[in-house]
Amino acid sequence: MNMDVKVDINPGACTAAIKSLALSMGGDVVGIAPVERWREYVPDGYLPEDILPGAKSVIVVGSRGPSAGAWQSPNHRIMEVNGYDFANDRALHVVCDHIEMNYGYYAMQAPGLPVAGHQPKMSMMLAAVLSGLGTRSLAANIILNPKYGLLYYSACLTTLPLEYDDRLEQDVCPAPMCVKIFRAGGKTPCMAVCPSDDGGCLDGDIDEDGKISFSYFDRERCVHRAMNFGINSFQKAMGEIAAEEDKDRRDVMINSDFFNRSCSAISHYKESVAQCFECMRVCPVGRSERKLK
Ligand code: SF4
Ligand code: SF4
Repeated sequence: MNMDVKVDINPGACTAAIKSLALSMGGDVVGIAPVERWREYVPDGYLPEDILPGAKSVIVVGSRGPSAGAWQSPNHRIMEVNGYDFANDRALHVVCDHIEMNYGYYAMQAPGLPVAGHQPKMSMMLAAVLSGLGTRSLAANIILNPKYGLLYYSACLTTLPLEYDDRLEQDVCPAPMCVKIFRAGGKTPCMAVCPSDDGGCLDGDIDEDGKISFSYFDRERCVHRAMNFGINSFQKAMGEIAAEEDKDRRDVMINSDFFNRSCSAISHYKESVAQCFECMRVCPVGRSERKLK
């Protein structure tokens, strides 16, 4: 369809069609926000309309990623790397094509990964919060959806005006049982499994109303602890090789199977922000959705 020729659209009907399409293509949840909501949180240059001029709406699709079976694997790397199917990306691409082909409005996938430098142009975590799909948690700031807990998010920017979802009124984290556990022992389940005062990455506090009053996440330590492949294993091995004074031993390390694999892993590296997911394995939110026979 010619983009200059916009057909008459009914925002309510388009919204319903887009949501139903996204769910049928593998999304578990869909939320839609107007672009104005970003102005309170991000600087100029990072607004949705800076990425797609004229953008009116942000459609966010969340999917569970690892299947319930993958969560059962005792090897968290198998769960994290092989458990993905990126259903959220697949659903998002179909939604973008649907908008352009059937309604004649521009649509594109929001850049959730860096296109230059180290920071992505757009935060999918913020997009999920602003479209009413979840709230920030004490576990590495992961956005928890009230039904599913951890989800993976993709977003579509579009010039198409739609009907919008409200943000969640209630915080998902901490869950009521986590508040009780915190009151009794000073740590929630996620903090207990990865405590910052004992080699881990998480700390936090809960106020009298049961809300997060302070949270701490050591991202660098999380990367170091949780990732032992790709760039991170190369960096670890390089540190050890550089510190080794015995030349013969250094040669062995350089030619070792581990270093060889680390070098070759860099070229096949899949970007992933740490996460062994032990903090999510113990999180009660969404656990019932992963219980199967
Ligand atoms: S992903 Fe693993 S290392 Fe990172 S915060 Fe969670 S439990 Fe800790
Ligand atoms: S275990 Fe889950 S719900 Fe409980 S405090 Fe941690 S992230 Fe929040």
